[in-house]
Amino acid sequence: MNDLLNSLLAVASIPLDPGRRLFWVFILSALVLASVTVSLQQRGFKPGAQLAALFNRRYWFNRSTSVDYSLLTLNTGLRGLLLVPLFGSHLAGTIGVGSWLQSTFGDAPALALSPLTIAVAYTITFFIAEDLSRFGLHFAMHRNPLLWRIHRTHHSATTLTPITVHRVHPVEMGLYYLRGLLVFSVVSGSFVYLFRGQVSGLDILGVDLLGFLFNALGANLRHSPIFLSFGPLERLFISPAQHQLHHSSAAEHRDINFGTCLALWDRLAGSWRPGRREGALEFGLSATEHPSAIVDVDKAIGHPGPIPERV
Ligand SMILES: [Zn+2]
Ligand SMILES: [Zn+2]
Repeated sequence: MNDLLNSLLAVASIPLDPGRRLFWVFILSALVLASVTVSLQQRGFKPGAQLAALFNRRYWFNRSTSVDYSLLTLNTGLRGLLLVPLFGSHLAGTIGVGSWLQSTFGDAPALALSPLTIAVAYTITFFIAEDLSRFGLHFAMHRNPLLWRIHRTHHSATTLTPITVHRVHPVEMGLYYLRGLLVFSVVSGSFVYLFRGQVSGLDILGVDLLGFLFNALGANLRHSPIFLSFGPLERLFISPAQHQLHHSSAAEHRDINFGTCLALWDRLAGSWRPGRREGALEFGLSATEHPSAIVDVDKAIGHPGPIPERV
């Protein structure tokens, strides 16, 4: 009972954490971007219609979203109760990698760089390592049959809302947690080792300016019905529209746009597609996919019963 309460408290604190995509500032910026996008697409600002669409009960509460909410609570609880105590914090990982480098290679060569140069180098290195490792794991999730069985829980969503980012199998959540811990520890630990004396660990920890910008620029619309394309910039950055194609159940959209932010990795892998669509998109698993993933998850979390399908 206490664990459930702690999980619910942890879920409630997510909108207050600038490190999470559901931080209230990012929700607000997504709402503004959504309104601008819809107004441009419909050639007119219709606040009444937009508010009605936003507060549509059937959009937020249906069979698909109930799985999202349940997994959000379950995964948040597991993260706090299991993963952090078991694998340690990001700070412990950073200190561990820094100490290992020090004891293995001795003192780092003296590199006289300004604190600003170090901060910029760290920000860019961390951003690229984070984005590439996310792409690699996501790519593997689709290509490896065993990992796909886990990842299809995310793809079984038939309604996309910003909460869907948390609709992942607990094993997938654990794999992404370990990936994040590894990337952060290696990049931060290396910088602390290389620039010891010039920049303390605490100075660079938490500098994820590019990640912050990515979240502020509509990352929450990736899981939404707002088809926001970046136009020609999609050759550089993955847009919400491109991620929605990734969630499309149509056979021609299978295994495309694995990227989170940079389009480079998809272009190198040949999986890049521009965010264009001919008709309405249907989200969910393709017709050839066995729908057992949806049933399994519903059973596992004790689905409450018939809830209207998405609108
Ligand atoms: Zn996927
Ligand atoms: Zn997704």
